[in-house]
Amino acid sequence: MAANDNPMPEERAVTYSDVLLHIDGKWRGSSTGKTIPVLDPATEETIGTVAHADTADLDEALAAADRGFKQWRAVSSVDRAKVMHKAAALLRERADAIAVLMVREQGKTLVEAKGETLAAAEVIEWFAEEGRRAYGRVIPSRAPGVYQLALKEPVGPVAAFTPWNFPINQVVRKLSAALAAGCSIIVKAPEETPASPAELIRAFVDAGVPAGVVNLVYGVPSEISQYLIPHPIIRKISFTGSTAVGKQLAALAGQHMKRVTMELGGHAPAIVFDDADVATAAKILSAAKYRNAGQVCISPTRFLVQEGVYNQFIEQFVAGTSKIKVGNGLDKDSRMGPLANPRRVNAIEQMVQDATAKGAKVAAGGHRIGNKGYFFEPTVMTDVPKDARAMNEEPFGPLALISPFSSFDEVATEANRLPFGLASYAFTRSTKTATAIGAAIESGMVSINSFGLALPETPFGGIKDSGYGSEGGTEAMDGYFNTKFITQTGV
Ligand code: NAD
Repeated sequence: MAANDNPMPEERAVTYSDVLLHIDGKWRGSSTGKTIPVLDPATEETIGTVAHADTADLDEALAAADRGFKQWRAVSSVDRAKVMHKAAALLRERADAIAVLMVREQGKTLVEAKGETLAAAEVIEWFAEEGRRAYGRVIPSRAPGVYQLALKEPVGPVAAFTPWNFPINQVVRKLSAALAAGCSIIVKAPEETPASPAELIRAFVDAGVPAGVVNLVYGVPSEISQYLIPHPIIRKISFTGSTAVGKQLAALAGQHMKRVTMELGGHAPAIVFDDADVATAAKILSAAKYRNAGQVCISPTRFLVQEGVYNQFIEQFVAGTSKIKVGNGLDKDSRMGPLANPRRVNAIEQMVQDATAKGAKVAAGGHRIGNKGYFFEPTVMTDVPKDARAMNEEPFGPLALISPFSSFDEVATEANRLPFGLASYAFTRSTKTATAIGAAIESGMVSINSFGLALPETPFGGIKDSGYGSEGGTEAMDGYFNTKFITQTGV
């Protein structure tokens, strides 16, 4: 099937459609013809299908990625950047139509979906330029006539596994860094939200990326990762998803000595000190909490509020939460859509029940909405005991857990209590406290007095059980390079 046989997003916006694999420059179904249904989480209706790759398809993708790598690494970084800029421009042009596809398969609001698509264009542009600055080093030698060079070379074909919460954003960070470095890639995109990441890939294909450089597959995630990770053609693994799955994939990659970037779960503490601007903290944290219905790895989750402003913060946060209109993401006045799948609704419902049984109070929400679609109320719980499940497991839904603290040491200990270490937030008017909390928190990212995470140019990643490696900034590029040392003596 030729690329043109898979219609442009503008034609598909209303009807959705059947999403295909992209292997070796061609859009096509799987070799078995098997497909998986795709549901709209707001209506539970089947809106299309996605092709389901089997081993024969993966073998073709691997061979294509191998050839694609040899070709793409030989393209200059300036020319790679030209293709990437063109892909970014196409994504911007198509953003309205792509956003509709994303809302229908994922549930988030149209504003968020369009924002994600436009932000992806920025990511592509930033990495395109960063690829041109992949400088090595000249290391001073110990003798005349000796040159010592540290060069950056692309690591090789990449296997990337991405989840359903940000269907485009999770792919674009891996894809852009890989391409800018000169790698080829096989993307295993999410089966539950397949059409919008396919449009991201289409922007690159239409921009002229050579066949085999970018490949897209869907199927059974565990079967695909078990096949691709050990395969000798694949030199680098990048995964975003839960800590449990990340540990399995990192272990498999370790057995085969593959380079790995892992962007896993979080359980972000959001600390509000007595001297904070409470109104600003409540506003920023409420927007951050309910974005994408809380299905965000850097979502603030444990709200730790100092005793002097505890009641004031709850009042303002609950007032903001109660105003959020929940509805189909396609409705203009919806501020929060449904959860992306029934697993999340069940998980949040169980966490609320468990916390309530252990003595927590529901200050807002707490229930599913209706019996059609995966809607759940924006929920606030207060005085949540530390042994409640939600205080230990990543809720990944619209659940804010507010607890009081008295001293700096107490809150620093609580912030670092869990094995996660991805994002954290703090609000204070004191520079001294801001500096101290920034130093005390064990996490990959700390945002103080604002929500300032996830820009293309800034590092994005976790420590401890939240993973390793970065998906932003120059550090992200480093994940796609090998260092080669050459020492050369004149003859
Ligand atoms: P899950 O843990 O089974 O899946 C998470 C993601 O990993 C999905 O995209 C899935 O397709 C993929 N996956 C699962 N098993 C895999 C395997 N063996 N090989 C390759 N990919 C695999 O469960 P879920 O219900 O989709 O999500 C549950 C939890 O995952 C959430 O509560 C959250 O903690 C975490 N999650 C994190 C992120 C993130 O941005 N870090 C995104 C989505 C989900």
